[in-house]
Amino acid sequence: MSDHYATLGVDRDATPDEIKKAYRRLARKLHPDVNPGHEAEFKEVAVAYEILSDPNKRQNYDLGGSGSGQGFGGGDFGGFSDLFETFFGGGMGGAGRTQPASRQRRGKDALIEVEIDLETAVFGDTETVEIVTAEVCGTCDGDGARPGTSAETCSLCHGTGSIQQMTRTLLGQMVTNQTCNNCGGYGTRITDPCTSCGGDGRVRAERSLPVRIPAGVSDGVRIKLAGQGEVGPGGGPPGDLYLEIRVIDHPVFTRDGDHLRCMLTVPMTAAALGSAVQLETFDGVQTIEIEPGLQSGTVKRLPGLGATRLRHSSRGDMLVTVVVQTPNKLDARQRELLEQLAEARDEVEPEAIVGEQSKSRFSRIRERFAGR
Ligand SMILES: [Zn+2]
Ligand SMILES: [Zn+2]
Repeated sequence: MSDHYATLGVDRDATPDEIKKAYRRLARKLHPDVNPGHEAEFKEVAVAYEILSDPNKRQNYDLGGSGSGQGFGGGDFGGFSDLFETFFGGGMGGAGRTQPASRQRRGKDALIEVEIDLETAVFGDTETVEIVTAEVCGTCDGDGARPGTSAETCSLCHGTGSIQQMTRTLLGQMVTNQTCNNCGGYGTRITDPCTSCGGDGRVRAERSLPVRIPAGVSDGVRIKLAGQGEVGPGGGPPGDLYLEIRVIDHPVFTRDGDHLRCMLTVPMTAAALGSAVQLETFDGVQTIEIEPGLQSGTVKRLPGLGATRLRHSSRGDMLVTVVVQTPNKLDARQRELLEQLAEARDEVEPEAIVGEQSKSRFSRIRERFAGR
C-alpha cells in the first residue's frame, strides 16, 4: 500500500489546507497537458488527494483500515476513472484545463461611407479615402507594456489565466475553471502600461488609403478591403474594412440599372420641323436627331453610353427622353403666326384626344351603335 502522505509530500498531521495546496502544486507539475509521460504519477497523486481530502476516508486510511481501495470499488480503478475524467473534463461538461486568454485579438471590421460622383460610378477610378482607425501603438509595438518592461506572470493563477475549483456535487467531484480576476484571464498582468496607448496596444490614427472603385458600382454597394479594418487589441490581426458607396446625384443624368437616363427639352418648332441637337455626355458631345413630327416623351436610345456593368466590360445605354416645349410669352406677331397655323390645320376648335386607348374603344362602340 502506497503512502499517500509521502506521495503528496506532506506530514501525517497536515491540515486540509496544506493537503489541498500540496495536491494543487503537484497536479500543476504532473498534469499530462503540462508534462506528458507522468500519467501514472499523476494518478497516484490524485488517488492520495481523493483519500486525504475526505475526512472519513483519511481517518480510515490513518487507522490502517481497508486502505487505498476504499471508496474506489474495492481497489480497482472504477472509482478513480470518474475522478480522472472529471479532472480532465472528459465526462462532466468540459470543465477541463484551459489556456490563458491571449491579449492579442482580431480587430473589428470597420464600415465607412465613400461618396463618389456618377462618372466615377460609371467608369471606376481610384479614390483616396481618409479613415480614422485603430492602429498598432508605435511606442510599445502593440504589447501594451511600457518599453523596457514586460507583462508579469499573474501571481494568483500562475499564468494559467484561470482558477480551478474542486466542488463536490451529487454526481461526484467536479472541477470548474473560473477566469482569474487578478489578470482577467490573460495569465499575465501589465503592471507598467505604455503611456501612449494605456496598455491596449493600439492608438487611433488617421490614414489615407487609395481605393480602387470598380466601374459599375451603384449606390449602396459595399467593397471589402481585407485586413484594412481596425487592428486588434494587443497587436492582434486587423479586421476588414468595408466601403459603402454613396453616389452623389448628378444634375443631368440618373442611373437606371445599367442605363443612364436624362431629359432633353426641344422647342415645339424644332420637334415639328425636325432638327438635330447636341448633348454633352460622359463620352463627349453626341448629336441627337429630332425627326420632323417628334412627339413629346419620345425616348432616344444611345447604345453603349450607359453605365459599365459591374465586373463586365460591356455597358448599358443612354436613354434620352425628349420633352417638347410649348412656346409661351408670345408677342403679337408670333401669336398671329400660330393662329394662322391653327386655322390651316383646322385646330381652332380642337377635339381633345382622351388617350389613344379610350379613343379607339369609343369609336368602336360608336361603330357598333351605327350598325356597321
Ligand atoms: Zn502602447
Ligand atoms: Zn491570473
